[in-house]
Amino acid sequence: MYSVDEALEKILQVFTVLPAERIPLAQGLGRILAEPITARENLPPFDNSSMDGYALIAADAAHASAQNPITLKVVADIPAGTASDRVISRGEAARIMTGAPLPPGADCVIPIENTDNPPGQFTESGAFPPATVTLFRALQPGDYVRFAGEDIRPGDLILKAGRRLRPADLGALAGLGVPQVQVVRRPRVAILSTGDELLRADQPLVPGKIRDINSYALAASVLDMGAQVIPLGTAPDQLNVVLSKLEEAIRADADLILSSAGVSVGAYDVVKTAMESLGALDFWKVNMRPGRPLAFGRVGSIPFIGLPGNPVSALITFEVFARPAIRKMQGLSLHLPLDEAETTEDMASDGRRTYARVRLERDQGRLIARSTGTQSSGAIHSMVQAQGLLIIPEGMKYVPAGTKLPVRIFEHFEDET
Ligand code: AMP
Ligand code: MG
Repeated sequence: MYSVDEALEKILQVFTVLPAERIPLAQGLGRILAEPITARENLPPFDNSSMDGYALIAADAAHASAQNPITLKVVADIPAGTASDRVISRGEAARIMTGAPLPPGADCVIPIENTDNPPGQFTESGAFPPATVTLFRALQPGDYVRFAGEDIRPGDLILKAGRRLRPADLGALAGLGVPQVQVVRRPRVAILSTGDELLRADQPLVPGKIRDINSYALAASVLDMGAQVIPLGTAPDQLNVVLSKLEEAIRADADLILSSAGVSVGAYDVVKTAMESLGALDFWKVNMRPGRPLAFGRVGSIPFIGLPGNPVSALITFEVFARPAIRKMQGLSLHLPLDEAETTEDMASDGRRTYARVRLERDQGRLIARSTGTQSSGAIHSMVQAQGLLIIPEGMKYVPAGTKLPVRIFEHFEDET
């Protein structure tokens, strides 16, 4: 019997980070950057106005105030998207819009709110700025100017390799003129449900049959990680069908094959026989609850993890073994910090490492965990209700109320109703 940590270590040994591929920026959300990004340009690219107003020389407005207004001649008009090369001299100003480049000579901008806000003229040939503008406040050089490179400078390391790209990252890359990025190729994960009893979700029930939960739940778990699914569907406990499904995974060039069911004692002959003809398979007892039986092997050179059939066991063993394997292929960290929660009721375990389904509540900064009730490994509703997995360590059989234990919080749990 392996401990969870021993089993995980053995599994992780066979995985390495996948090669990189170049993709358009617009497809980058959630992908893992395979290269560091260093800026080659300034952001913003030029000195520009942060307000709609007038660009001028601060020395001209040094003594301006409401009591001592100062009037300048307006000699240019600079909407956003244009650049003016008219040099601003003492006594002059240019009307300027937010984001427009500061004209040569000017060193600051006065917001329109601090002027007499003179109306421009509109003629058949377009809009013209007013002839003069009157200022009601003093200014310093640099006021209301966003300087070239004040956000990002050439040479700045913007994003490190291994980062999962977020919306703001894509925005920064676009701003810097980086239209493509090198990202880690998405892991391709083939998913197979085995068992004579399985029907698809759209098939009517007939006596003795149940609908295949695991294909759907495991595929979603894989997609949620930013990996790709190769759906193999279901296979009855028949050697030729299991073989052909595994061959399909080889043809699809899977990076990992996940199966569920058929790994408990007595039932696994078919999967085992199929695996042995295409690769190798080993059955492990892992000291955990739920999900003690686990199979691990390879189909050709593709790693294979055989998860237990009970839907809760399948999902929890996915969390414990498949998720880290997929993260390793993605080049992501394997050391995710756990949170800590306090139990509210006495709980029992059997000495195996137990992943208990819990609901979570925040109470003045503390996290409180409450069991979802039934902890049967077949009860998918206990996973539906769960907001996290409370981890009762090996050897602990009695957990009195008030015990602090590590908890793995599910993502987006705040979104449920
Ligand atoms: P096994 O690992 O084949 O002994 O299956 C354990 C339990 O999980 C049995 O009750 C199976 O019917 C059930 N089971 C196996 N595969 C699935 C599946 N894909 N969806 C729902 N239940 C399953
Ligand atoms: Mg079975």
